[in-house]
Amino acid sequence: MTEIPEYFLPLTQLYHDMDCAWDQVAKRYGFQCNGCEDNCCLSLFFHHTHAEVSFLQFGFQTLPVKDQEHVLALSREYCRQTFEQPAENHNRPTSRKLPCPLLKTDRCSLYHFRPMICRLHGLPHELHKPGFNVIKGPGCDAGKFDTRTYIPFDRTPFYKQMAVIEMNFRQQTGKTEKIKKTIAQILADSPPQR
Ligand code: SF4
Repeated sequence: MTEIPEYFLPLTQLYHDMDCAWDQVAKRYGFQCNGCEDNCCLSLFFHHTHAEVSFLQFGFQTLPVKDQEHVLALSREYCRQTFEQPAENHNRPTSRKLPCPLLKTDRCSLYHFRPMICRLHGLPHELHKPGFNVIKGPGCDAGKFDTRTYIPFDRTPFYKQMAVIEMNFRQQTGKTEKIKKTIAQILADSPPQR
């Protein structure tokens, strides 16, 4: 595994913690993610943190150049199909259930670098926002969680820690603009590193 620069360590520690928490709850359900028709890697997800974008781009540069070029081509095609919408759709992107450009024979080719939402997806969960009712997420269809007793999986501490990491990352890098990008958009902006 490539040596990770020190400034990414708070993020990798958080990823480790969320992976452990996810695994523990999944184990209690007896749930294993083996891919399914409604694969989350075919869903239209946006990512909002510079820290995660930079980490993914760092991971991308660890791929062989040939693979980078392939992913880049897939990313650009993904963006073309998803975001170059006819005007009657008010230019709102719609999910076309396209595979994430990093999905390779049902595996994530940047598994160790994948963002938070890829790590937390699948399990029923809760989120506590100050001043709001508790937000509950149902989990993916593959787990048939609607027939199961809910096992608490609170995303709140992970979101809070991510907010702190992002704040520190922004201060360190001077990146302050709002961000809302799919994996394809992130990678389409990452020229191959030779
Ligand atoms: S980054 Fe990896 S885990 Fe996330 S959607 Fe893409 S292929 Fe799936």
